[in-house]
Amino acid sequence: MSTLQQMDHSSLQHLHEKTKKELDAIKKENLSLNMARGKPSAEQLQLSLELLDSVTSKNIGDNFSVLNYGMVDGLPEAKALFKDLLEVDTEEILIGGNASLNIMHDLISKALIKGVIDSETPWGKEDAIKFICPVPGYDRHFTICEQYDIEMISVEMLNDGPDMDKVEELVRNDASIKGMWSVPKYSNPEGITYSDEVVERLAKMETKAKDFKIFWDNAYAIHDLTDHPPKLKNILEACKKHGNPNRVFMFASTSKMTFPGSGVAVVAASRENISFIKEQLSVQTIGPDKVNQLRHVRFFENYSNLLEHMKKHAEIMKPKFDAVIEILHSKLDSYGIATWAEPDGGYFISLDTMDGCASEVIHLAKEAGVTLTGAGAAFPYGKDPRDRNIRIAPSFPSLEEVEKAIDVLCTCIILVSTKKLL
Ligand code: PMP
Repeated sequence: MSTLQQMDHSSLQHLHEKTKKELDAIKKENLSLNMARGKPSAEQLQLSLELLDSVTSKNIGDNFSVLNYGMVDGLPEAKALFKDLLEVDTEEILIGGNASLNIMHDLISKALIKGVIDSETPWGKEDAIKFICPVPGYDRHFTICEQYDIEMISVEMLNDGPDMDKVEELVRNDASIKGMWSVPKYSNPEGITYSDEVVERLAKMETKAKDFKIFWDNAYAIHDLTDHPPKLKNILEACKKHGNPNRVFMFASTSKMTFPGSGVAVVAASRENISFIKEQLSVQTIGPDKVNQLRHVRFFENYSNLLEHMKKHAEIMKPKFDAVIEILHSKLDSYGIATWAEPDGGYFISLDTMDGCASEVIHLAKEAGVTLTGAGAAFPYGKDPRDRNIRIAPSFPSLEEVEKAIDVLCTCIILVSTKKLL
């Protein structure tokens, strides 16, 4: 079979008409499938149900300090459990509430009002401030910037992380660049893990802003789908080695380990940064939900159990990822109209159509009953400059639904691509 570009006009026309009929037939099925967000499935949530029984009136014992105010930086036992997730010491971690996004948002809003540890001026008092945003990236990071008028500078993701030549040049010359987003392991949406070299360069690079911060959102730290996951270099250690210990805030949460609504979020950083964050947090709250922290501590007991638990998630997720990849290959390979990532973990598969096709594909899929992440969502200001990126989130639907949804997606891609080439 020839690629679409090689096809003559009448074969292209024929394929277009045939695909149109296929899509019309699909529409009659009244599908309602949602692959818009990376939500765990009910089956995954069930893996953690016993967590809900781990703290009861019968077994709480004399843990009254857990029930009371206090310990604004979290339960020591929770620090001991989660420190290995980000490979830090107990003094370098703070255990928060149910959402890491909340901690990121808080840190940025406080930086705007008060500055961060090395700031001479609160960020919000500067004429303009900017963040580097590797693209495609996580839409909710970009929405925080948009909310607070932080100008976003897109930097392309390469196979091993952001384009570091570009990043280094930008931060060396522009004092208004105060921060950078990063999802360093199984990036959202491409599933890329930063190489050691990229981590080293981020830790070492010269920044014009003395109070430049990397928001290291390690949301998928242990969300592996293979037995030989890539190893992410410890950026805090690298920052310390290069004399920039306060450069990085690292985040993680159990949102996709236990319950996204009722998990535990953590932030890790240098001791100095953690004391700074703790001091600010003490004004905001007298303490986090330590009962939930205790539930997690009792449910997992130790870090190796947590890793075992993640293998159960992988058993549910892997067949869905495999199905997506297999269907994309079988339906699209020969046409040469799309490329996609085949990640070893995380929650997403990122697909690129031909330029100028993604929004129409997503629109058609929606009409056919398949909801995908909105076009442009993975880019600052919601604008994909090439209108080609589609984020596939296969976790929530059942395997059968994933198969059906990807089938529909492929039909839409063929339809839009043939139309474009005709
Ligand atoms: N960061 C990334 C990269 C994510 O993909 C997600 C969830 N989709 C989050 C953060 C949200 O994490 P939390 O639930 O801890 O706020």
